Amino acid sequence: MKKRKHLFFDLDNTLWDFNKNSREALLQLFTEHHIESRCGVSFDEFMKVYEAINHQLWEQYSHQKIAKAELRYQRFYQTFQFFKYENLALSHQWADDYLKISPYKTHLIEGAMDILHYLKPNYHLHIITNGFKEVQDIKLKQCLLEPHFNTIIISEEHGVSKPDKQIFELAQALTQSTADDCVMIGDNLEADIFGAINAQWKAIHLAEQAASLQDAYLHISKLQELKSIF
Ligand SMILES: [Mg+2]
Repeated sequence: MKKRKHLFFDLDNTLWDFNKNSREALLQLFTEHHIESRCGVSFDEFMKVYEAINHQLWEQYSHQKIAKAELRYQRFYQTFQFFKYENLALSHQWADDYLKISPYKTHLIEGAMDILHYLKPNYHLHIITNGFKEVQDIKLKQCLLEPHFNTIIISEEHGVSKPDKQIFELAQALTQSTADDCVMIGDNLEADIFGAINAQWKAIHLAEQAASLQDAYLHISKLQELKSIF
């Protein structure tokens, strides 16, 4: 692996603690708008439903079945509806407010800064992320991640997302590398890992548990483990 000099990191839940940051932002909205009494639901129960709905909508978005604007408010609208609370206006407001609040949260995945400092002297570090441009830019700046990366590829800017092979080929072109030089490090099995493997890259899956049948790629449960690989 050490011979491969171009390391591509995913952003959300690989470096930037999306779950923690998102939860914190939503708790803020949930409290401000008195959802506990309006919907008769605790924050934890609300989040369980929200996460399932959000996941489904992202799936649809990644297959171009819904537009970004729809995804943004539908995830709240449908969650409110689940709890028999009908409020389209508030769903739109949350869509805006959530995107304003969450990217400014700065929790990183454990060991993120340390591993970037460790790798930086010997490798070209890049990012490939499927998020929205205006949001991902803020996260990268707020957390002081941006200066560590040579190339930052945000799918929305290029009209193609992971796991599509085209984004990995585009990444090679932008970094003047070949598939033999590249490693993808990410938490999403389908987008990051299978996408990279399909483009003939090596891949490292960051996840608490190793998925089965994982001969085709490496598994780590903590970012620090990259020190024994690179
Ligand atoms: Mg991710």
